[in-house]
Amino acid sequence: MLLMVEPLKLALSKGRIFQEILPLLAIAGIYPRDDPKTSRKLVLDTNQADLKLVIIRAADVPTYVEYGAADFGVAGKDVLLEHPGNGLYEPLDLRIACCRMMVAGEPEVTPRSGRLRIATKYVHSTRRFYAERGEQVEVIKLYGSMELAPLVGLADRIVDLVDTGNTLRANGLAPLEHITDISSRLVVNKASMKMRHQRIKEFICLMAEAVEKQH
Ligand code: ADP
Ligand code: MG
Repeated sequence: MLLMVEPLKLALSKGRIFQEILPLLAIAGIYPRDDPKTSRKLVLDTNQADLKLVIIRAADVPTYVEYGAADFGVAGKDVLLEHPGNGLYEPLDLRIACCRMMVAGEPEVTPRSGRLRIATKYVHSTRRFYAERGEQVEVIKLYGSMELAPLVGLADRIVDLVDTGNTLRANGLAPLEHITDISSRLVVNKASMKMRHQRIKEFICLMAEAVEKQH
């Protein structure tokens, strides 16, 4: 009898995460049939009949996985910290797309007295960081190009991801405080983990081995 099994769906964002997960997938013997850089397809087949890749925005990965539209996904810890709730398992640190979440600003400038204004995409993490220090700040939500905010007087500081620091330096900013280390994590839908336990456990083990081999 031919048993039809719905393929597992792995949610990924294109760009950095896709590029950095490719070598790990290759170690695990998994090869996408298309490259999102050149293909407009949002669902990619792989060499494994029961595994498809779903290409979405980085910030949408937790939502797709939480609702079960993807069985699992790869998301930056920065994104996960902004997506509170307990709808996801986070069984594996993939140790890719590593960087630091930091407070940055103009190094020589003393901020105005009164509440600091902080511009960021990471509102939740920023609030928590300053709350833990008992410091009252005003957090301004932005969707990108945070480095601009201090230059045009929108904010005293920014909270952003820093890798080499080149983007900060190019804009006359410097990293000032380290909030947390960031890397990409494998996240799994809780229902899928129960219903398709064997297959998902196999995948997690394969990826865990790949992470070890890569380091
Ligand atoms: P987007 O611009 O849609 O957020 P990116 O590809 O820039 O997509 O970022 C995806 C993920 O890669 C982020 O959520 C973060 O975890 C990680 N990342 C972002 N910037 C850096 C960086 N400078 N160095 C390393 N990893 C980063
Ligand atoms: Mg980006």
